[in-house]
Amino acid sequence: MDAEQLRECGHRMVDFVADYYKSIETFPVLSQVQPGYLKELLPDTAPNKPDTLEALFDDIREKIVPGVTHWQSPNYFAYYPSNSSTAGFLGEMLSAAFNIVGFSWITSPAATELEVIVLDWFAKMLRLPSQFLSTALGGGVIQGTASEAVLVVLLAARDRTLRKHGKTSLEKLVVYASDQTHSALQKACQIAGIFPENVRLVKADCNRNYAVAPLAISDAIATDLSSGLIPFFICATVGTTSSSAVDPLPELGQIAKANDMWLHIDAAYAGSACICPEYRHHLNGVEEADSFNMNAHKWFLTNFDCSLLWVKDRSYLIQSLSTNPEFLKNKASEANSVFDFKDWQIPLGRRFRSLKLWMVLRLYGVENLQSYIRKHIELAKEFEQLVISDSRFEVVTPRTFSLVCFRLVPLASDQDNGRKLNYDLMDAANSSGKIFISHTVLSGKFVLRFAVGAPLTEGQHIFSAWKILQDLATKQLLESS
Ligand code: PLP
Repeated sequence: MDAEQLRECGHRMVDFVADYYKSIETFPVLSQVQPGYLKELLPDTAPNKPDTLEALFDDIREKIVPGVTHWQSPNYFAYYPSNSSTAGFLGEMLSAAFNIVGFSWITSPAATELEVIVLDWFAKMLRLPSQFLSTALGGGVIQGTASEAVLVVLLAARDRTLRKHGKTSLEKLVVYASDQTHSALQKACQIAGIFPENVRLVKADCNRNYAVAPLAISDAIATDLSSGLIPFFICATVGTTSSSAVDPLPELGQIAKANDMWLHIDAAYAGSACICPEYRHHLNGVEEADSFNMNAHKWFLTNFDCSLLWVKDRSYLIQSLSTNPEFLKNKASEANSVFDFKDWQIPLGRRFRSLKLWMVLRLYGVENLQSYIRKHIELAKEFEQLVISDSRFEVVTPRTFSLVCFRLVPLASDQDNGRKLNYDLMDAANSSGKIFISHTVLSGKFVLRFAVGAPLTEGQHIFSAWKILQDLATKQLLESS
């Protein structure tokens, strides 16, 4: 590494990135390339001799950028957002500069200690119960994704239960969640060896905006208990992926407690909103949870990846995930005086991810972060009102945070209940390159999802997105009449 070369090339890269952000609206939001496009453009083998940075920039412009979907575009409304910010970006840069592999405290004490401090700060911002703090028996840790978070707590819960019931009980362990729970739970169950027939995805209640009914969970548990099975894990969601439903935490907490089960809360997207006092009530009931997760890399201006997981009792994670080979032994770990985050996660190596979160918190401050969340929710409200004002459309389920679920209302005679009508509308909108939205299915209805959360989105983007959708709908309805 030549420092002067880095300075020179780094400046050029920062210029490139700044120009990219400045011109981001000129690119199609959803990449319009066809599968395999890049193989046609790049050679079959790596170059023998070094290339120039100039040649590389040319290729990035001409060959890579067309294959990028612009998640940071202000016209990006698909899935859930994945925010970047100057603060998060700078944190990533610094983390790349140090390039530490911080599996144990000793490998970079600042990495572990900053993570502990920042996750405690965040727990306080969310007003999580004090048991989740590192100063108690719990603590927070940064995982790569919500999928890894649910996997590690599922393993911890599984082992806790097996210690009680015996190792041969694995086939009896049962997991409960609603059918709106992210598929990450199913994947975690597959990896953790939970028998597929023991994963109960209880139908969510459309009358509760697709949250799960506690009675449906407790009935399923009672049935399983009477069959000699062992209910051990409930996954509740605050802000489901399809429609931002909020499962009833207090009731699920009571059920988990009564049955000695682990309650995990997946607030991957909506957790960010709960730093605002007016949305914090969605976390009421977290007191009974064993673990809580939210993705700072979704809606919190922290560049991917940065998934925050808190547990009430860290010893369960450590019992399931720790290894202690000779080559990693050191004084601090042996003295039990430090956290070694390798024992709270699947991989050994880990990045210095707390830096970017720390920088986001410091360079924005909680007040600005709250305003940022509120602004997106206001913009989503505006979009919702626009949908309501056009009788050709309907809002399918009431908006809670910054996601609006809507569709073009099909004619009564429509054979597939508006599936093609709405699919075509989405396809036309996304193929235009002007906006990017995604879809889901709720109660058999094909539903369009409009998620506000890109950092550059302003009111004008909401209005022009709506105009694009209206114009395309007009065209489509004319063609189909
Ligand atoms: N949980 C919820 C509620 C989500 O919305 C998502 C992704 O959108 C996930 C989990 C999975 O997130 P990750 O990609 O961090 O595993």
